[in-house]
Amino acid sequence: MELRCVDCSKPHPLALLYRCDACGGILEAIGDDGTPRVSLGETVTPLLRAARIEASLPGFSGEIWLKDETRNPSGSFKDRLVASALGRALSLGVRRVVCASSGNAGAATAAYAARAGVPAVIVVPAHTPLGKVTQIAAHGAILLLVEGHYSRSYDLALALAEQHGFANLTTTFINPYAVAGLTAVGTELVEQLGGAPSHVLVPTGSGPLVKGIWQGVTDAGATTRLIAVQAEGCAPIVQAFDQGREQVHAWGTPQTIASGISDPLIGYERDGTYTLKLVRQSGGRAIAVSDDALRAAMQLLARSEGIYAEPTGASPIAALPRLWAEGHLPADARVVCMVTGHGFKDGKVYQDLPVHTHRVDDPTDTAAVARICEAALGMS
Ligand SMILES: *Cc1c(COP(=O)(O)O)cnc(C)c1O
Ligand SMILES: [Zn+2]
Repeated sequence: MELRCVDCSKPHPLALLYRCDACGGILEAIGDDGTPRVSLGETVTPLLRAARIEASLPGFSGEIWLKDETRNPSGSFKDRLVASALGRALSLGVRRVVCASSGNAGAATAAYAARAGVPAVIVVPAHTPLGKVTQIAAHGAILLLVEGHYSRSYDLALALAEQHGFANLTTTFINPYAVAGLTAVGTELVEQLGGAPSHVLVPTGSGPLVKGIWQGVTDAGATTRLIAVQAEGCAPIVQAFDQGREQVHAWGTPQTIASGISDPLIGYERDGTYTLKLVRQSGGRAIAVSDDALRAAMQLLARSEGIYAEPTGASPIAALPRLWAEGHLPADARVVCMVTGHGFKDGKVYQDLPVHTHRVDDPTDTAAVARICEAALGMS
């Protein structure tokens, strides 16, 4: 394995380095030297055909697949980055870690640090969904809540790492060993489908998942079109794509229920620029979805396919109708939607959706209960 700058190609030693010392660019870990990972028994995640979602797109005759990353140990694909980066940090002798997170990377870091028996400091925005905060606290991490958007948490973790000897497991492009843990997603997709998908829809914050899928697919000698999905309320990469720009600019104030991709990239716009470059290189595009479309997609996933996802995890499904209607998917496309995070993490969004419950006053009156069920069946 070696570290190399994605911009100027300068090689760097295998150490805890977070950026190129020549140009400030993103460092990439190339190759795998078999450094032991910290494990919670993670396995290949399921790839499920979504026949009812296919049928929801009029005239579509291709395939829609769901890569169910909710099945990772802590409920999101962030486990893959943390298992890899924590293993590397421990092998380099570091015994304390820090992670800035919108929730899921923090939950993953807290869980894997507990498993490894090392202390973890997790920095999250004060408005992080309760399910994620609870998860982090449950694992005994030192949990720091910072007012304001995610980039402020990012800065604090960076300072702790640079000044106080913590390994920084923040899962933007800052830790090359974390990002390397995502190549397996692309490899798994090619193996599971017996070939590359034509399109992969990826919920995108700063973009390591986009990179990992691209790396895994191209390592397998294949190619795929990457579709970066962002929320309308925080869409710096989509904005640059739509305006034909190469440089991604930071987003002002994020406003979306999709906490997992609510990243304004303030101070590390370079991450977004790199991700956009990969998206364009793949022949793909970037698209933003509204919070209403996210809620509808969560319901469709849960009711039609049996998958309970957080808003961010459902964002690819939210993007499908528009991609199809606007002609960005051929009728015979073989599409993978990355379902990146579990619904348990953000139950509040589901609780705020209309639900149909039925009060049973007399549970011995089964005839009356049966009538309630019949009426409900008639309505569904
Ligand atoms: C972090 C996260 C993303 C965004 O991933 P990036 O690799 O930062 O672009 C997407 N979905 C969920 C659920 C996440 O937690
Ligand atoms: Zn460089």
